[in-house]
Amino acid sequence: MGILDFLARVQGSYQRSTAHFLCRRPLPISTQTPIISFTFDDFPRSALLTGGAILKGCGLAGTYYASLALAGKQTPTGTMFLRDDLKVLIEQGHELGCHTFDHCHAWDTKPHAFEDSIIKNRQALSELAPGTFFKTFSYPISVPRAQTKRRVAKHFVCCRCGGQTFNVGHADLNYLSAFFLERCRDPQVIKQLIDQNQRARGWLIFATHDISSNPSPFGCTPRFFEDIVRYSVNSGARILTVVQACEELCSSAS
Ligand SMILES: [Zn+2]
Repeated sequence: MGILDFLARVQGSYQRSTAHFLCRRPLPISTQTPIISFTFDDFPRSALLTGGAILKGCGLAGTYYASLALAGKQTPTGTMFLRDDLKVLIEQGHELGCHTFDHCHAWDTKPHAFEDSIIKNRQALSELAPGTFFKTFSYPISVPRAQTKRRVAKHFVCCRCGGQTFNVGHADLNYLSAFFLERCRDPQVIKQLIDQNQRARGWLIFATHDISSNPSPFGCTPRFFEDIVRYSVNSGARILTVVQACEELCSSAS
């Protein structure tokens, strides 16, 4: 391993440790029936038009984390949502979550600028869809700094990061774990994780970006996605949006 690789590893480990251990808001995961949520970051149109249709076909809803500055733009994950898509998303019973207005890097952005971008996203939403509010959040690109985590916490019932695992025992409402589907191309590994979540009676949050027959490195195919959705349903888990799951777990903990 070269010195640069070594330093990158040390920095990554430091970032994950501070994000994990500081500014926690503990939530005991106590549920008779395990929970699974499906989330999409950014979000590309295909996540709603294709991914949302798969969920809807199973009578389910997902959570879409939007950076409103990205509306209508072309990005590596495809065409981003259009303004009219937000209305459709809400009408279909999906949850719209916040991902900052400018898609700010959670570590590299100064904490006050990061919070400003959250407030800007909220203001933009109040103009686009009056009466609609963001209740949950996902961190763009990276784990957050402790000060960022502290500032973000007061705006949302919960905040999601990554970590490639499920939430069990005492989770952190400011730093919920999620599993990015595109980082594992073997459906059997993901199905084993669903089984583990089932046995542990945990809360497994899946995340991805585009759903396309020719996906970006950050997305997956409709076939792969539907296979995981159907396996999740058949596992006996309840499939809830992030805000539904969070509110239910919080009420059973109080
Ligand atoms: Zn993002």
